[in-house]
Amino acid sequence: MPGNLTLTLCLTHNCNLRCRYCYAGRKYAHAMSQKTAERALDIALAEAQQTNRNLDISFFGGEPLLEWPLLQHCCYWIQQKAEGSGTRIRFGITTNGTLLTQEKLDWMAGRDFLVGLSIDGSADMHNTNRCFPGGRGSHKQVADALELIADTPRLRSKVICVVNPANCIHLRSGVLWLHGHYRGPIGLNFDYWSEWSDEHFATLSQQLELVARDVTNSYRIGHPMQLECLEGKIISHLRSQGENCLRCHIGEREIAVSVDGNFFPCSRMVGDGDDPAISFGNVHSGIDRARQNYIIATRGNATPECKLCVLRHRCLNTCGCTNYAATGHINRVSPFLCNLQQRLIQLADDMAETLYREQNPAFMQRFYGTAE
Ligand code: SF4
Ligand code: SF4
Repeated sequence: MPGNLTLTLCLTHNCNLRCRYCYAGRKYAHAMSQKTAERALDIALAEAQQTNRNLDISFFGGEPLLEWPLLQHCCYWIQQKAEGSGTRIRFGITTNGTLLTQEKLDWMAGRDFLVGLSIDGSADMHNTNRCFPGGRGSHKQVADALELIADTPRLRSKVICVVNPANCIHLRSGVLWLHGHYRGPIGLNFDYWSEWSDEHFATLSQQLELVARDVTNSYRIGHPMQLECLEGKIISHLRSQGENCLRCHIGEREIAVSVDGNFFPCSRMVGDGDDPAISFGNVHSGIDRARQNYIIATRGNATPECKLCVLRHRCLNTCGCTNYAATGHINRVSPFLCNLQQRLIQLADDMAETLYREQNPAFMQRFYGTAE
């Protein structure tokens, strides 16, 4: 079976937070209609079945939990449509956590949801950017949500921590706080929309070095920190066989639908939901195949400097949404991305070399499937 198709539904433009780095467009009370959601789901199911793929449905916003009845309706709808077809459906959500309840988590756990909680670490780090309207930080509410998630049996989850120039000074303490409160995977989403000055990058680089040291020590004490941005680089070293193992599938295996039903190549490119430069049709008029094929043909990396780079198979240079955020082109990398990727690969390799030399049991088990 080829890889899954992921459909992301942006259920609403609205959000009860006003994060300072938000890329999800203007905030106002406008939700996806039930009809639009049903059409999007039907189209995605047909696409998945035509290409013999399973289907992942992901809920996004704004804050998708503001549209909880619609979200539930989408799950019932697609499960009923896919029943008996052999297409496996999985669900996921990205949420700011402030509206989570035990009841909602139990409902999602019963449907094998992957819950991605946006929390930027410790209060200092989180409250720098993640605020309610008026500027009050949301850390207390989101930390409570993290506790609920950690205590919910059988729930698949991860935390997502956004790192930008304003909060990167707190990165080490933020990540340590997360590791102290949560056992699952920690994703760092670097803010490619922002300008990173040399000073900010130097701060980030120093903080990442401290974080890498903490991750190394977490293996030594037998309580490994699952920091995805370093783990991914180790895995890319082990698996890279001359082919980019971080390939981006925007527009093909990755599609997103805006509140008004417009198709986009990736959830991170939806924004206000009305950018004609990167949308390709609407759920009511159908997918614009010419536009979709153009996006698929254009994605990848056309930056000449990368062609001969020895790190190109381990670097995020082909990620279309990241490139678009930073350069306005899905196939052009930014200097920040290049510098950051080199730094992450260097830190991950140093860490892996050390732990391999020590034959650290937790490291050997995690990356080589053996504690020998
Ligand atoms: S919670 Fe998400 S959608 Fe809401 S303001 Fe923050 S980043 Fe934007
Ligand atoms: S972005 Fe930088 S590190 Fe990545 S492939 Fe291009 S030159 Fe190499």
